[in-house]
Amino acid sequence: MTHADFGFIHCIDEASDYRTIEKNGITDYLLRLKKQGVVHHIGLSSHTPKLVNQVLDMGIIDMLMFSINPAYDYAGGELDYATDSYAVGSVAERMALYRRCEAEGVGISVMKSFSGGQLLDSRTSPFGKKLTENQCIQYALDKPGVLTVLLGVRGKADLQKILRFCEAAQEEKDYSVIGTFAPADAEGHCVYCNHCAPCPAGLNVGLINKYYDLSVVGDKLAADYYRKLEIKADQCVKCGHCNVRCPFHVEQMERMEKINAYFAQSE
Ligand code: SF4
Ligand code: SF4
Repeated sequence: MTHADFGFIHCIDEASDYRTIEKNGITDYLLRLKKQGVVHHIGLSSHTPKLVNQVLDMGIIDMLMFSINPAYDYAGGELDYATDSYAVGSVAERMALYRRCEAEGVGISVMKSFSGGQLLDSRTSPFGKKLTENQCIQYALDKPGVLTVLLGVRGKADLQKILRFCEAAQEEKDYSVIGTFAPADAEGHCVYCNHCAPCPAGLNVGLINKYYDLSVVGDKLAADYYRKLEIKADQCVKCGHCNVRCPFHVEQMERMEKINAYFAQSE
């Protein structure tokens, strides 16, 4: 249960897991250890947005281990240990959780970023098309709240493959291809991939969208970051370049107007 100076509550995926933890006094025990300085932070690992939200409501965790990859985000559905599927919750529910974590300063450490390897092979990928390690890692890193991606390696060869991410060109990490095979509920929602770059007016479209989405759920830090941007939504010249390039068909010209209006009225 302990991770160096971390007290960890592992694998809370069903309401009964959560009740057991509470009943056994584990949460109280961890809080006591934290008060005594034995553990400095409390973490939680789970695959289930609903239960993570319940624990977040208690305000006791500092970090979350959570499974994030395009298959889980866009597949929806139920937790199914038999098929090793953790695709729990709708896209909106999962994105809202990431934003909540960022807004509340709970860092996410990502697990299952290759969906247990399924996404790396077109025969096993739920999309019928494979993604690369670089694309999956970048996808996870772009989600709000994410600090690290934990990758399982079977040996040196796996490690060397994964470490290539550090030197990979931007194009190799571009995962926007998922826009062509993700389901309809992915349409029209910015996933901050920046495939639409470059913007001729110099806007960082992905970042502006991310700061806005976080700000509307109460993340004051994100609003602050937005205000510090040199080029903001008001600089959009409505050239339409990003709309044409966006695989998720996000209507950015309208969105930039909305973002600008939001920040103008919340000054
Ligand atoms: S507008 Fe589209 S291409 Fe640009 S960052 Fe958002 S999702 Fe990606
Ligand atoms: S429509 Fe606006 S945000 Fe999009 S590329 Fe043109 S100037 Fe940039």
